[in-house]
Amino acid sequence: MAKHVNSWGHFPACPQQAIQPAWQDQIGPLLTTARNNGKPVLPFGMGRSYGDSCMGSRDQVIQTTGLNHMIEFDPLTGRLSCESGVTLDSILQIVVPQGWFLPVTPGTRFVTIGGAIANDVHGKNHHLTGTFGQHIKRFMLQRSDGQTLLCSPDSNPQFYAATIAGLGLTGIILWAELQLKKITNSALNVETVRYSSLAEFFQLSAESAQDYEYTVAWIDCLARGKQLGRGHFMRANHATASTTTPPLKARKLSVPLMPPISLINPLSLRLFNTAYYHRQQRRSQHCVTGYDPFFYPLDGIHQWNRIYGPRGFQQYQCVIPQHNAEAGTQALLEAISTAGVGSFLAVLKVFGDKPSPGLLSFPRPGATLALDFPRHEIHSPQLFDTLDRLVHESGGAIYPAKDSHTPGHYFREAYPHWQQLEALRDPALQSRFWQRLTG
Ligand SMILES: Cc1cc2nc3c(=O)[nH]c(=O)nc-3n(C[C@H](O)[C@H](O)[C@H](O)COP(=O)(O)OP(=O)(O)OC[C@H]3O[C@@H](n4cnc5c(N)ncnc54)[C@H](O)[C@@H]3O)c2cc1C
Repeated sequence: MAKHVNSWGHFPACPQQAIQPAWQDQIGPLLTTARNNGKPVLPFGMGRSYGDSCMGSRDQVIQTTGLNHMIEFDPLTGRLSCESGVTLDSILQIVVPQGWFLPVTPGTRFVTIGGAIANDVHGKNHHLTGTFGQHIKRFMLQRSDGQTLLCSPDSNPQFYAATIAGLGLTGIILWAELQLKKITNSALNVETVRYSSLAEFFQLSAESAQDYEYTVAWIDCLARGKQLGRGHFMRANHATASTTTPPLKARKLSVPLMPPISLINPLSLRLFNTAYYHRQQRRSQHCVTGYDPFFYPLDGIHQWNRIYGPRGFQQYQCVIPQHNAEAGTQALLEAISTAGVGSFLAVLKVFGDKPSPGLLSFPRPGATLALDFPRHEIHSPQLFDTLDRLVHESGGAIYPAKDSHTPGHYFREAYPHWQQLEALRDPALQSRFWQRLTG
């Protein structure tokens, strides 16, 4: 029986009917049937994308979480191959005790390998390590004409490039092989610096880029004037072998039910932002922490997305190119703080210049800003129109994994290779996102 699944933001509110195959050899016939019937589907992983990029154009998806088998792991070289529905969480459980870590990780470990490749996800180490796709050695792609294509930089390179950040449109990845990163300790040495302006953020980013593997800032997005962009800048490296690793805490909290209205409102946001900014009294504070609270602070609260109520929420994530990063970020923050519809999760990071193999990869040199907004029928579209225009004028781009609003012409300009992806799109696959933006 098909089950219904949603995107993480619950917006647009279009439950997806999910078929959940358990074996790789079921995928080909499912795709061929979709193609022959003219009813496209879309691969779906853990549904951690916020908007409509993980939604099928006919609200039908093939959820890959049943393809959850590890295939091979070599603890000497750190090469791991697994099926595409395996989650980052499962990989960490196996490889961390053996001295390996994910080369790149997003802010949640509940994503699949297939989803991480299809959005070419980035992490706090982008400035040194690039995107997830750069560490994918090869993968097997199932097409609806019955072909399976082994894709790597040398084998079917056009499908390799189009599938990394390919939004699930070129075929279904059956399995993938990735290169892990060697660590001497899974704990992190973290320094948190309380800073007071946007200029200081860029200065901290520049001075930390070489010596710190992980950098990111939380910002108080409601601060104005001289304090605009103030926040906490975190910079970290893996601890040395002799450092005692703090024990991992068991996950306890959960949001069991969706409240009838959003618990996030202007008052709770203002109180939270001000209190969070002032929670650290000293300018700089050091600690050693486990990898879980550092990389995945929100994973500790199961289904936290429910706090936004049935209307859901939208994340806005963009990148402003390097040459314009400070002025462009300032304009965005001014628009947000003037609108007074802040976010409690506002994150700012400077991307590096490592090019991704993916045709439609989102990260590019510059500053990336990500904010969660409760969905409001009137305020959200008005604010997003303004932000989209500012991003477009600065030559920036919106992250497809978070998007459900940006106009097609902005998207097509920011992703000039979209037609190359369209040419390799499998006719059995189509998403609401792709249909909306490419017509
Ligand atoms: C709390 C939180 C923090 C996050 N932090 C970050 C971050 O720091 N950096 C970042 O880059 N992203 C971040 N994200 C977004 C998330 O990492 C991406 O959306 C990721 O792609 C979700 O993976 P998924 O398995 O849930 O895939 P889904 O969301 O279900 O699908 C994502 C895409 O992958 C495609 N897909 C899925 N499986 C396959 C397959 N087997 N073959 C081909 N295509 C497939 C789908 O068609 C879809 O286009 C975050 C999300 C959350 C909820």
